[in-house]
Amino acid sequence: MTTLRKTALERANSRPKIKVESPGRISEYFGRDVFGLLEMQKLLAPDVFKKVSRAIDAGTKIDIETADAVASAAKSWATTKGATHYTHWFQPLTGSTAEKHDTFFDALSGIEKFKGTALVQQEPDASSFPSGGIRSTFEARGYTAWDPTSPMFIYGVTLCIPTIFVSFTGELLDNKAPLMKAVDAVDAAATRVVQLFDKKVTRVKPSLGCEQEYFVVDKDLYNARPDLVMGGRTVFGHNPARGQQLDDHYFGSIPPRIYNFMKDFEIEALKLGIPVSTRHNEVAPSQFEVAPVFEDINVATDHNQLLMDVMSKVAEGHNLKVLFHEKPFAGLNGTGKHNNWSLITNTGINLFKPSSSARENLLFLVFFVNTIKAVYEYADLLRASIASAGNDHRLGANEAPPAIMSVFIGSTLTSVLDELEKNGNVKVEKGDNMYMKLGIDKIPQIILDNTDRNRTSPFAFTGNKFEFRAVGGAQNVAAPMTVLNLIVAQQLNEFYTEVEKEIGKGAEKRMAVVNVLRKYIKDSKKIRFEGDGYSDEWVKEAAKRGLENVKDTPRALDAYITKKSKKIFEANGVLSEKELEARNEIYWENYIMKIQIESRVMGDLAANHIVPTAVNYQNKLIQNANGLKGLGISNKEVVKVIEKISGYIHTIQTEVDSMIEERKRVNKIEDTREKAIAYCDDVKGKYFDKIRYAVDKLELLVDDEDWPLVKYREMLFLR
Ligand code: ADP
Ligand code: MG
Repeated sequence: MTTLRKTALERANSRPKIKVESPGRISEYFGRDVFGLLEMQKLLAPDVFKKVSRAIDAGTKIDIETADAVASAAKSWATTKGATHYTHWFQPLTGSTAEKHDTFFDALSGIEKFKGTALVQQEPDASSFPSGGIRSTFEARGYTAWDPTSPMFIYGVTLCIPTIFVSFTGELLDNKAPLMKAVDAVDAAATRVVQLFDKKVTRVKPSLGCEQEYFVVDKDLYNARPDLVMGGRTVFGHNPARGQQLDDHYFGSIPPRIYNFMKDFEIEALKLGIPVSTRHNEVAPSQFEVAPVFEDINVATDHNQLLMDVMSKVAEGHNLKVLFHEKPFAGLNGTGKHNNWSLITNTGINLFKPSSSARENLLFLVFFVNTIKAVYEYADLLRASIASAGNDHRLGANEAPPAIMSVFIGSTLTSVLDELEKNGNVKVEKGDNMYMKLGIDKIPQIILDNTDRNRTSPFAFTGNKFEFRAVGGAQNVAAPMTVLNLIVAQQLNEFYTEVEKEIGKGAEKRMAVVNVLRKYIKDSKKIRFEGDGYSDEWVKEAAKRGLENVKDTPRALDAYITKKSKKIFEANGVLSEKELEARNEIYWENYIMKIQIESRVMGDLAANHIVPTAVNYQNKLIQNANGLKGLGISNKEVVKVIEKISGYIHTIQTEVDSMIEERKRVNKIEDTREKAIAYCDDVKGKYFDKIRYAVDKLELLVDDEDWPLVKYREMLFLR
């Protein structure tokens, strides 16, 4: 066996057991490394604390004296816990997180220092972060600015300060800032609508709970696969005889090595205040899921980014690698991240939770129907928000969920909406009579029975929240959550205006609400789908309905820069036209780089590893064939194999050569979008599958001893 594969397998199969000690009861260490409100209250003067907590709650500005006090308290707290450095922690558009560490130690005075100015703002050497041309056009520098709504935390020996990343001329250069603006937009819009019913509500906040799927492989096996190392997914590899057909992995018992890893990263996550709560096996072998309890969306988003980082770091200690890529292994389930989302008022009402009171259910229906309408109106934007080279392997590629956006609501709510649509124009009456006539007195409080079964829907109502399931496993969820909150904000604003108009025409308030809802139910019916989202019938049916089915990233991204999109992004103060265009440049470039890397890795592996191996094996067979012939024994079967191998070698060689030529041509294209499309259609589209097919066939023909790449079955069945 080739040495790399062989040593990797030997090492992977002889790992010492790693013991994970529990640091005690979770309540004793949860949030230990977080500088949260409790810590602040202990360390800050009461008036300072009041200012900070108001800033966190209501988004008010923090003056420099207050910032100084917070900085000083944070420094004392962090240094007593062993921190030596601090960093502004931010989420550039590369998709990961970034940090630049500075020491607290001030050599001049010989003591540790941390000033309010350093807390509030920092100028990272950010010239290498993507800006889509914004920074060169406007102003060369950008800065990071403290986000007090997401608490500081200690990571290693560094105090991390969650920040946004902005250019000096004010353009947003990161993932987090637009999300915060979209959150403000939906807060304003939703609060105004709720106040039609309930004046006590003064704020509405979105919540998010991310179910994170992931694969785990042994570190040495990972390192023996250049494709995994370079691009996060295997570009070759034949399916194991036992894949996920048996479904025996799902909810089965967790392999001990993985279980220890889970325990370990959960402890670290909990110390950082990430409320991880559930763990289980997923559908594919070696695939798992972790889900935290939902939180305020901004914090939940930071926590998801941090959790992925924690998992990757902790995995090192277990000689494991975590894969978040949307499709690391062909033929097996991909990796997604269900985004569970709801809107919750400052009085504690979840606006997506059906109530036992018919009257309150009208409010529920307002939010429920408006969300469906928002998805209907802006399905293309939602689709764009989850577009990535990795996610293209899931969406619309014979896997769940499809690239067609649709909403699943379950049979109970379907009949409620049907009835409401039919029963409009009832007389306004006191008490619950009117609601009975509208048919909205029958909404059961708990609708979990039929809402959770449809796992094929990209956007499903699951009892008291919507679940955006098409989000990719490796993605920063800020982008899809920005879009979701934005489109719901926009939709609620339109709703409010229409209700006001109806009232102006003399309608009673509740009837005005009902009338507009009925119209929306009718208008948005096309987006509702209760059937199997993976089926071919749905693709046909969706086409008939006129729903879009954009299967690739470069084209899906177009939705961000349509007139309609620019209008709502600007109207709600989330992103300007320029920012949207700059972002798309980055997304297209990112896509190009990903496909380019994959194409190079493919070419390199095929030409330098696979073909030579196949040729060697072929030579052995030729010897064998000649030997047989010399003995006068039929060598027909051996010759057949030789011919097959030759055929695949020929395919690989010619296709790889043409792919390289194609890449050269495509690289000359100047326009980023055009180039991304060319990479999609002409490089990936024309060559990847063909080359892979031939390589995977060779894997089945060539002697297992000789095969250079670690095989799927070797990677996927860790115990
Ligand atoms: P399932 O696998 O059935 O979808 P899980 O329990 O694995 O359910 O995940 C559900 C996720 O939804 C959890 O992160 C949970 O905290 C979150 N969640 C529950 N209620 C809400 C809500 N009102 N808003 C946002 N997220 C929620
Ligand atoms: Mg789910």
